[in-house]
Amino acid sequence: MDKFCPEKEMTKIRREFGEHGGVSPSISRSSTFTVMDPKVMQEIFEGARGPHNGGCFLYSRHFNPTVDTLARELAAMEGTESAVCTASGMAAISSALLQICHSGDHIVSSDTVYGGTHALLDELFPEMGIETTFVPPDDPQAFEDAIRPETKVIYTETVGNPTLKVSDIPALSTIAKRHGAILVVDNTFSPMMVTPSVLGADIVIHSLTKYINGASDVIAGVVCCSKDFVYQLMDLHRGRVMLLGPTMDARTAFDIQQRLPHLAVRMKEHSHRAMAMSKHLQDLGVEINYPGLPSHPQHDLITSMLNEGYGYGGIFTIECETTEKADQLMNILQNKERFGLIAVSLGYFDTLMSCSASSTSSEIAQEKQKRMGLSPGLIRLSLGITGTLPDRIEQIERAVREVGLI
Ligand SMILES: *Cc1c(COP(=O)(O)O)cnc(C)c1O
Repeated sequence: MDKFCPEKEMTKIRREFGEHGGVSPSISRSSTFTVMDPKVMQEIFEGARGPHNGGCFLYSRHFNPTVDTLARELAAMEGTESAVCTASGMAAISSALLQICHSGDHIVSSDTVYGGTHALLDELFPEMGIETTFVPPDDPQAFEDAIRPETKVIYTETVGNPTLKVSDIPALSTIAKRHGAILVVDNTFSPMMVTPSVLGADIVIHSLTKYINGASDVIAGVVCCSKDFVYQLMDLHRGRVMLLGPTMDARTAFDIQQRLPHLAVRMKEHSHRAMAMSKHLQDLGVEINYPGLPSHPQHDLITSMLNEGYGYGGIFTIECETTEKADQLMNILQNKERFGLIAVSLGYFDTLMSCSASSTSSEIAQEKQKRMGLSPGLIRLSLGITGTLPDRIEQIERAVREVGLI
């Protein structure tokens, strides 16, 4: 079977031109939409007409033409039938999970997930009667063992944050199907590189805030899923996006859409540089974790799941053992070498560095951090694509020597 190619899929969908033949689409900023015939209004409320059925829009918390255009492109990229864009990645995660799970239901989740997702599952959901069992993402059997009759969802990240453990999506899909659960995969770290839906995921989520937008200037998310699930999320009576209201603004949708055409080029460059730099540092004797290196415990697994040509992504970690040493290294890299920026988040065109244990994963208790293999001196580096690669490699080599990592 030919590998899935997101770039090919994205060129197959209808191209949106702007008003007056603009090469860029227009932004539909209306909150509400006129119907020329009063009967149409009733048909929209009855569900007989809509944006995908007669081209009728009602109100922009429901569907908006500009947001819907972005959703169609993201669905094509992820190989799903449809998609809903949301105001943040967390909105996408919480809306999708709350649509599926009710009080009394159970989730089996990877223990290596984004800090906010961990807090949602571990602290907020129990208040709503939804319980989660956390298991290591690299152990499919642990997922199956944790399943109960009331388990509705298996949840994981393709590449887990921040220890870069890889999930065996085909194995998790088989387990989910066997037990009638829905497999939800957060693919934020690996857009284009991995297409979870072709590997058996039912719902694919992104924080668009990261690589997909790529400029660290918007917060946004998407749920890529079946048409049926889109209509559940947007249902006028029970839809979690419709009723809880984490709606994406049309201007945000336009901004992201203008950056989608170069996502593939960016991902290839992020991957190319991360591979070269992580290999160079490892050869020097620095303790590096990067899925593209044969030393990564699941290098073969992720290789088997990759689409062709996008590499292994732009994120690697450097083990500094202590928080002090990690801080010292980041300080030199930012303030002396001008190599990158000390900031949370990832997928920016410049390098972003953070010490995960005391920042984006600080919601996770220290004992649990230890169990998931997260050390206090671990720096997560989202490698940028600015400057020249040889210069960047020189800068980081000088810095690791200065702090005595080698
Ligand atoms: C950032 C992030 C989120 C949350 O996304 P927001 O857009 O900040 O709400 C979820 N999952 C992962 C893997 C992330 O990196």
